[in-house]
Amino acid sequence: IITLAIETSCDETSVAIVKNGREVLSNIISSQIEIHKKFGGVVPEVASRKHIENINIIIQQALDEADITFDDIDNISVTYGPGLVGALLVGVSTAKAIAFGKGIPLIGVNHIEGHICANFIEHKELTPPFICLVVSGGHTHLVLVKDYGEYEVIGKARDDAAGEAFDKVARALGLGYPGGPIIDKLAKVGNKNAVDFPRVYLDDGSFDFSFSGLKSAVLNYLNNSKQKGIEIVVEDVAASFQQSVIEVLVDKTIKAAKNKKVNIVALAGGVAANEGLRNLMSRRCAEEGLKLRYPSKKLCTDNAAMIGCAAYYDYLRGYRADLTLNAIPNLKLGEKKY
Ligand code: ATP
Ligand code: MG
Ligand code: FE
Repeated sequence: IITLAIETSCDETSVAIVKNGREVLSNIISSQIEIHKKFGGVVPEVASRKHIENINIIIQQALDEADITFDDIDNISVTYGPGLVGALLVGVSTAKAIAFGKGIPLIGVNHIEGHICANFIEHKELTPPFICLVVSGGHTHLVLVKDYGEYEVIGKARDDAAGEAFDKVARALGLGYPGGPIIDKLAKVGNKNAVDFPRVYLDDGSFDFSFSGLKSAVLNYLNNSKQKGIEIVVEDVAASFQQSVIEVLVDKTIKAAKNKKVNIVALAGGVAANEGLRNLMSRRCAEEGLKLRYPSKKLCTDNAAMIGCAAYYDYLRGYRADLTLNAIPNLKLGEKKY
C-alpha cells in the first residue's frame, strides 16, 4: 500500500511517500523558519500563503524522489488538525483534489497521532502498548498507546506546552526562533545547578504538566539580575531552565509507565529532539528496566512521513474520509470527526 501524505499544520510544507506504513520512500520538508524568524514566531497568514506557493512543487519532488507517479498511489492522507486553520486548509484542499481526481481513498490524520507514529518508522519492532511522552511546540501529552490508533491521554499541559516554554525563554534571552535547539546547545556548556528554578509537579499523582510558572521564574530571574546588576550567564540559565523541564517530564513518564504496567517508553514531537531529555530519559529508563525509543531528530519535528505512517493503520482499520473533510484547528487526540 502506497500512501501520499501531506502535512501543512504549521510552518513546514511536507509531503512524503510511505509504503506499508513504515517504509519511507521520500519525505520532503520545506521549512518556513527563515521567513518567520524575523517576526519571532509563526505568522499564520504568511504560513498559509507560503504553503499555497509550495505545495504543488513539494508534491512533485516527493513523487520524483520516490520514483513513482500519481498512478502508483493507493491513498492520500493529510493532517486535518490540530494546527493553524489556514495552514491546515491548504493541505486538506490539496488532498481532497487529488483523492477526487484520482478516485482513491482519503484519510484524515491527527497531527499529534502523527508525531507518536514517527516512532514506528525507524523502530520496526515497536508495537503497542507503550507510554508516549508527546512534547511539541503546542502540546505536552502523556499518552498510553493501547493499540494502533487507540490512545488514552493520561496527562497534559494545563498551560504552556514544553516547546512553547523553550521558545518563550529563548526569546527572553534574546536567542532567536525556534528556541528549543538553541537552548539545547547552550545547555550542554552551561551549569544546570547554577540557578534553582522550580520543578512543578502539581498535585500528588497527577500526570498533568504546568510550565508557565517556570517560564515566569526565568523572566523574574532575568529582570532581577538586570536590576541588581548581576551578570547573566546565558548558558547557565539555559542549562538550569532545561533541567527543570526535563526532570519533571522524565519523572512523570517513568511513573506513568509503572502505573500502566508497560515496559516501553517512547518520545515524540519537536522537544523529543532535545539531547538533555534523551540522555536523562535513557538513564532513568535503564535504571528502571524500561525500553526507550525515540525518532531521529528529523522525524521528531514536523514531517509528512509520520502522517503517512499513522494513515496506514487508519487505512487498515477501515477509516475513510470523504470530500466534506474539513480542517479542525483544535482536534483532540483520539477523536474521529469524520
Ligand atoms: P504541535 O506539534 O504541538 O502542533 P509544532 O508542530 O509547532 O506544534 P513541533 O514541530 O513538533 O511543534 O516542534 C517544534 C518545537 O520543538 C518548537 O517549540 C521547538 O523549539 C522545539 N524543539 C525543536 N528542537 C528542540 C530541541 N533540540 N530541544 C528542545 N526543543 C526543541
Ligand atoms: Mg514547525
Ligand atoms: Fe508538530
